[in-house]
Amino acid sequence: MDQLPLIIWSVSALVLGLMVGSFINVLAARLPFEKSIVWPGSRCFSCYRPVRLFDNIPILGYLRLRGRCRDCGAGFSVRYLWVELGTGLAFLGLFLAEVVFNWFNYPGLVWNYRFDPTPPPPLVGVYVYHAALVALLIAAAVIDTEHRVIPPLIPFTGLVVGVVGAAFLPWPWPHPPAAAAFAQPGIPWMLLPVTGRVPEGVQPWPFYGPAFAVSLAGTWKLGLLNAVLGALAGSFVVRGVKWLFETGFGKEALGLGDADLLMMAGAFLGWQPVVLSLFVGAFAALIVFKLPAIVIAAVRRTGVDRELPFGPGLAVGVVVTWFAWPWLAPKVQPVFFDIQTLLVVVTIVGVGMLTAGLLLRRREEPEPQPQPVGK
Ligand SMILES: [Zn+2]
Repeated sequence: MDQLPLIIWSVSALVLGLMVGSFINVLAARLPFEKSIVWPGSRCFSCYRPVRLFDNIPILGYLRLRGRCRDCGAGFSVRYLWVELGTGLAFLGLFLAEVVFNWFNYPGLVWNYRFDPTPPPPLVGVYVYHAALVALLIAAAVIDTEHRVIPPLIPFTGLVVGVVGAAFLPWPWPHPPAAAAFAQPGIPWMLLPVTGRVPEGVQPWPFYGPAFAVSLAGTWKLGLLNAVLGALAGSFVVRGVKWLFETGFGKEALGLGDADLLMMAGAFLGWQPVVLSLFVGAFAALIVFKLPAIVIAAVRRTGVDRELPFGPGLAVGVVVTWFAWPWLAPKVQPVFFDIQTLLVVVTIVGVGMLTAGLLLRRREEPEPQPQPVGK
């Protein structure tokens, strides 16, 4: 059976995801309350008796006890089940996309599972690196949904993992460094018809080109610089949009946890996909989260929750932008690699944010404001 390695590895990815999802549940239950995440072991929140090892097995433990505590019968939130299952499927999906179907077109890093029982070790490393990003995004989204806060431990752990991994996987790897030869001085290389598309590596793009004197293509210095600039860009694009929008709108929008979330994603993906993912994320928050909330509120005849968390939309925005990158990259190349075009776009978007804020303020003004209660 020549598909056996494929099945074994896929099931392993799924099981790994279920276990990580189980740990994310622990994080979601403890991090917002600043409890230790390693001690003590899992406990029932009602009777505080420890959960037995076999009852703690992802999915199966929950289903066998029908989501109840074995000792006191208190119900566990069905969130535990969905987070475990969702993380498991996300890990499996990433494995199929990245390792089996080579979604990101990594040259030379292809697993021919019919002939080779194990994927190329560098590809497994890339998978683990990206699975960490996915897990951290899920953790941030779950905790933000439940508690309206993204505990800093999550994005700052991601920052460290992202930056260290980036130093080992610098652009244009796994393309050879010679793939960067297109970036010659004096050639308008950001224009597709002249020099073609920028090759995408595990680190999707270099931060800019062709000025690579301090950080040659394929060196750890470029990887490191890419990750640091990506993290800074992720943090500052949220802060910038927050400032512009709030200046116009006059009310708080976005949180600093959202800035930390994009900071983490920037360390993994570089600045260009991350800046785009803020706008994709705003769109996702509107379509995937806000619209259903409005519909549900209309059906139940209740008020719409105005303070929907932005973290889940942002996490979706990061993943969508990242997976669309092979298709998206050549379309946005003339903007991101030409400083003049970039400045024009930044100005237009900035003015747009300010205007949108002002327009929304006009609409909101007639609404009576509740008087602040003395604290
Ligand atoms: Zn109990």
